[in-house]
Amino acid sequence: MRYAETGYNLEVDLSRGNIERVETDPRLTELHLGGLGTNARILWDRVPPETEPFSPDNPLILSTGLLCGTPAPGANRTIVTTISPLTRYLAYSMMGGFWAPELKYAGYDKVILRGKSADLVYLYINNDKVEIRDASHLRGKGSNETAELIRRELKDPNVQVSAIGLAGENRVFFASIEQGRSSASRGGIGAVMGDKGVKAVAVRGTKDVNIARPAEFVELCNGVLRYIKDRESKPIPGVMPILAGLGSPQEMKLIDEEWHTTNFMWGNSRTRRKDFWTKDIEEKWRETQESVRTRLISCYNCPMKCGATISVPGVATYMMKCFTKLTYTMAAFSDLDFGFRIAQRATEYGVDGFSAPQVMAFALELLEAGILKESDVAGMPADNEGKFYWLLDRIVRREGIGDVLADGTYWAAKKLGSGAEEYAHNNIKKQEQLPLKLGMLNPVYYLMYSTGEKINITQIEGQFPQAPFMTKEETEEFIRDWIHVPDDRFKEYLRKWEFRGEFSNPYYPDIQASCDIVDWQEMMHYIDDALGMCAGLSSFPLKPPYHIHNYPSFITAATGLDMDEAGLAKITRRNRMLVRSVNVRRGLRRADEKPPEDHWKKRFPELEQELLSTYYKFKGWNMNGIPTREKLEELDLGYVAEDLEKRGILKDGQD
Ligand code: SF4
Repeated sequence: MRYAETGYNLEVDLSRGNIERVETDPRLTELHLGGLGTNARILWDRVPPETEPFSPDNPLILSTGLLCGTPAPGANRTIVTTISPLTRYLAYSMMGGFWAPELKYAGYDKVILRGKSADLVYLYINNDKVEIRDASHLRGKGSNETAELIRRELKDPNVQVSAIGLAGENRVFFASIEQGRSSASRGGIGAVMGDKGVKAVAVRGTKDVNIARPAEFVELCNGVLRYIKDRESKPIPGVMPILAGLGSPQEMKLIDEEWHTTNFMWGNSRTRRKDFWTKDIEEKWRETQESVRTRLISCYNCPMKCGATISVPGVATYMMKCFTKLTYTMAAFSDLDFGFRIAQRATEYGVDGFSAPQVMAFALELLEAGILKESDVAGMPADNEGKFYWLLDRIVRREGIGDVLADGTYWAAKKLGSGAEEYAHNNIKKQEQLPLKLGMLNPVYYLMYSTGEKINITQIEGQFPQAPFMTKEETEEFIRDWIHVPDDRFKEYLRKWEFRGEFSNPYYPDIQASCDIVDWQEMMHYIDDALGMCAGLSSFPLKPPYHIHNYPSFITAATGLDMDEAGLAKITRRNRMLVRSVNVRRGLRRADEKPPEDHWKKRFPELEQELLSTYYKFKGWNMNGIPTREKLEELDLGYVAEDLEKRGILKDGQD
């Protein structure tokens, strides 16, 4: 009997219309757990580096995590993996909501889509019955609209639907997959789904998931719920509001947006409005938010209620995704009401809420600079908000200039030339980044930004505070019940950290401390991404209920695998190395690991290179960012080393 996982994947060949239920190898669970880990293994084994994102051979994997469908609070993430049209590397994007647990209850751990359908279709999974159904009547429909139409068609309100909108159908490079209460947005995975001719995957499951030691597991889960309740009554003092509690940035509960609006850049990630936030703005934004927020809602089996249903007069109800509330507002130099309005249309179209607003602001900058001509935007309204709606409509339809912009700022700038590349300034690995710009280089952030392969900073940062506390007393108070640290070195790192002087940014945390902190934070994310755990209860916030010391017990009780901290750390490093290796085989090198030039006002080129070199060494990568044979063998990835050597990427195990 298989525990926690079902032991079966659903393999769908869209070109041939073939559907197979395939038993998986339990040894792969021992090596990689599930979720991202086994997704990366499939990509390594099946997808040669020459495979183009829109090739029929590029699979789109919608995976549950190992703990999804178990009673573990917050274990509800779907991990979507494919080769990204935007970055051309492995994309992995998460969505919360209800889809992954439903797939487990239908009896599958993953849905692997390959090939391409000649006509637009949707997949209907109802326990053992799986059908490819005609979706021609859904062409052009919004993502939420599609979900609703499918539920009506199937006469089942409990079907969970992941769908693309017009952006995915038209292969917009930053198209998302939407799921009503969440979305998987980064890396243009929605474009790959559209390219395969799949409008939606609808799932209904009524089976059970087996747990190896049920009583022990349920007691662990109850402990998490008790911890959440206690932790929620004790917000952490001395940190920005968004970090004081748990959850996946609880933007919909939060009204105080001073930190984001004064620290993040507006427009095309260029303009900082230090004095923007005033009492008047706070009052106005409070009124707006409270008037449109009809209900706070949670993902499957979670008490946190991070999301909210939004009902703006004249606009269909939808769910706001955390930071999207601000991205359109800030890109357009507009107010919160505009953000809530345009986000509904963007959600139906299915676009990434980080990239889409930046691409539109980039277009307007190019127009101001004379790189785009008035003839390129003939018919665009004169008012600012109208311009954003106009551009969004054209991007998702790939009409006129929208066709160029639909490839994202990196590729659009290359196509446009005439100096446009200077305006595509906020990319790492070809993808638009969070518009955060800091005054002083922060070495931990520098490493996370540079080397992260999830390409989403909020999904890399984590359990170490983002800044030192103001006083020694606050620091000690924080450390008092900081049980989450892997070991006491991290407490010392925090104790020494100061706002000014020798032990402050950019030289502190020092290089070794920075490597340790980034490695810890990354490890937690890779665990979550294999287990399907929401980062909001684990790798992202300070003092979460899940951490490196209690995760092994959850895994053991759920799966029956004999897991300890060292074993879990090794699996995580193996998964991380495999993701790296897929990307290295596709061409990722040191030169790509470079944050935007203006991410920090003051740059320290020598220090940055030293940080990168030391971190590479620490991870077992050579100076070009390529995993060494020695490290690969240590992680039971000798077959990867052989492949990299055969391709001439590794020589003598090193370079
Ligand atoms: S913490 Fe928030 S985002 Fe995460 S599972 Fe719970 S409700 Fe969803």
